[in-house]
Amino acid sequence: MIDLTSLTLSGARGLLDRREISSVELTQAHLDRIDRLEPQLNAYIRVTGDIALAQAVRADEAMRRGEAGELAGIPMALKDILSTVGVPTTCGSRILENYVPQYNATVVDRLAASGAVVLGKTNMDEFAMGSSNENSAFGPVHNPWCLERVPGGSSGGSATAVASSEAVYALGTDTGGSIRQPAALTGTVGLKPTYGRVSRYGLVAFASSLDQIGPITRTVADAAAVLGVIAGPDPRDSTALNAPVPDYSAALTGDIRGLRVGIPREYFGDGLDSEVRVVVERAIEVLQSLGARAVPISLPSSEHALSTYYVISPAEAMANLARYDGVRYGLSLPGDDIWSMYALTREAGFGAEVKRRIILGTYVLSAGYYDAYYRKAQQVRTLVRRDFDAAFGEVDVIVGPTTPTPAFPIGAKVDDPLQMYLNDVYTVPINMAGITAVSVPAGLASGLPVGVQIIGRALDEETILRVGDAFERETGHNLLRPPMTAEVSA
Ligand code: GLN
Repeated sequence: MIDLTSLTLSGARGLLDRREISSVELTQAHLDRIDRLEPQLNAYIRVTGDIALAQAVRADEAMRRGEAGELAGIPMALKDILSTVGVPTTCGSRILENYVPQYNATVVDRLAASGAVVLGKTNMDEFAMGSSNENSAFGPVHNPWCLERVPGGSSGGSATAVASSEAVYALGTDTGGSIRQPAALTGTVGLKPTYGRVSRYGLVAFASSLDQIGPITRTVADAAAVLGVIAGPDPRDSTALNAPVPDYSAALTGDIRGLRVGIPREYFGDGLDSEVRVVVERAIEVLQSLGARAVPISLPSSEHALSTYYVISPAEAMANLARYDGVRYGLSLPGDDIWSMYALTREAGFGAEVKRRIILGTYVLSAGYYDAYYRKAQQVRTLVRRDFDAAFGEVDVIVGPTTPTPAFPIGAKVDDPLQMYLNDVYTVPINMAGITAVSVPAGLASGLPVGVQIIGRALDEETILRVGDAFERETGHNLLRPPMTAEVSA
């Protein structure tokens, strides 16, 4: 008897299509597992079991009629920053604890049109600010590979749900690394699409010029399938690109012969854990053994990308978060006058990291400092983009580590924001340039997962997915499961 929670998306698709299992069985198996594991993991803020089972019944009927979409009947999880009509959407914050959206995010509508089953909303760093999930108002998420360690963030709940088989796949969001970094730390696949590839309508905004929605899965093929459903133009988001959506699954030929793989010097310098370095270098050797050619390159501005990100993203965040004022959304604490209502609501509703970013963002945009910080940061952002443009004149993809270290212990970096920010040193430049990258499991370092990051040109998700898929077929690193998961399913 197969363990229904061990299935990939494509594996589940085959069994459902052949009527060997029903969506109701598959969904119930995941809900049972969530019940068993959640006391240890805390990956979900809200489980919507009744809704999931109703969707599963409908999916089974649609499949019987032969009308089912590609994702029909397969249970998944949504990061709790994606608006869901009638279901609270908290963003991991007290200020939105009781906020219920009036409309769905476009990605949620697209999943529904494909017949997806939504198990619930996943835990996250408050307003997607963080790299460890410790900034959630609903408690930290525990890494299934080692419960005392962080799963990464901010999409740590989504990554943990997938890694521990509490969902077949999940959606996360990535502003500076929040899909790829938790994917790397939990041994899952995390894809950040090109800026504008996926509509942001209904994604609660953190830093609007950087935010992007993408899948977290157990295989690259599954990421390709999910991207194909959620990508594409949207009249409700003017930054969603009007480019046709290719058949991503068809791009997974397994053939990467002759491909030029750029190895950026700056991604292998000080700060990279020695064990992570060995794992990533071995991954590059695998790509070479498959016929790819490694080309040393340089991305000279990348060392400034992180500090620049911590000017631009707080500036955008402070503007986006001004709307939580006790009048329109969520929490509202009465005060003597309107000013004290604003202050009391925001003081009680926002956590420490969100307040830090609001203050930072206000500072860099203030009249006396705008030129010195914000304008300068925008100029550096242009340099980061030009580095990638120049590199992609010589190579087809760029490969390096996703993160400098494997998962670290819960509590290790909470008192040192700068150390925490360094987690995203290799992921942030991709958001700054608006291009695409995927993190793929590359093996273990001292028993903890390590991710290799494959970076591609704008709108060239096909090539990075092809490389990731070829790597995965050759190595099978993505098949490694966390020990606790194996015990539970035994
Ligand atoms: N860790 C980064 C931050 O705290 C990135 C977050 C994200 O990608 N949402 O801003």
